[in-house]
Amino acid sequence: MTVYFPEDKLKDQLVERGIRNPEVLRAIRVVPREEFVNPESRGIAYEDRPIPIGYGQTISQPYIVALMTELADVARGDRVLEVGTGCGYQTAVLAQLADQVYSVEIVAELSARAEKVLDAVGVSNVQLRVCDGWEGWPEKAPFDVILVAAAPPEIPPRLIEQLAEGGRLVIPVGEDRQVLKLLVKENGDLVEKRNFAVRFVPLVKNPTSIA
Ligand code: SAH
Repeated sequence: MTVYFPEDKLKDQLVERGIRNPEVLRAIRVVPREEFVNPESRGIAYEDRPIPIGYGQTISQPYIVALMTELADVARGDRVLEVGTGCGYQTAVLAQLADQVYSVEIVAELSARAEKVLDAVGVSNVQLRVCDGWEGWPEKAPFDVILVAAAPPEIPPRLIEQLAEGGRLVIPVGEDRQVLKLLVKENGDLVEKRNFAVRFVPLVKNPTSIA
């Protein structure tokens, strides 16, 4: 197993802030984050910050990726939907833990670039699609985990429909003030289990795909 994430930074950024799941820490260690950022950002790939990836988007700070992954409680055999592929880094982390990861992205160029990098680093259990994440990916539902990397003002109803019973939805919600929520589907209803104050880019509404 090749370790890319420097151990001292992993301890400072993740362990000290409460990330404890050994499987999540292992996934973060083995994904080469420097391959997912633009070449000029390689030197800062493991710093404690988000990094611009073009098209007005950023790769999330490592802590946020780890926190969302830990909250999602991803297990072998799980089918995971990620909304907002971006550069594909979170996708690669999820792919270490899940059986299959489906990831949707609205910016075609980002999805194409993510596909190339995921292929180059040998991640094969992911499928990407260019579409509006408000719609989810109905053909692949139900999902055990849905993880949303951009903040909608309210929870997209299609995502609730596509979550399996017992499934976990990890999503930042809100406009000015955002709250990262862990919601679990219990008897058909979403039950909020945890929440954190955070900042994400907005989950844009694609006017052409809204009926
Ligand atoms: N997890 C990503 C972070 C991406 S930032 C990473 O590791 O790099 C959020 C992403 O959500 C951006 O790439 C943005 O283009 C995408 N996004 C925003 N609105 C969207 C929508 N409605 N549907 C799908 N993707 C969307």
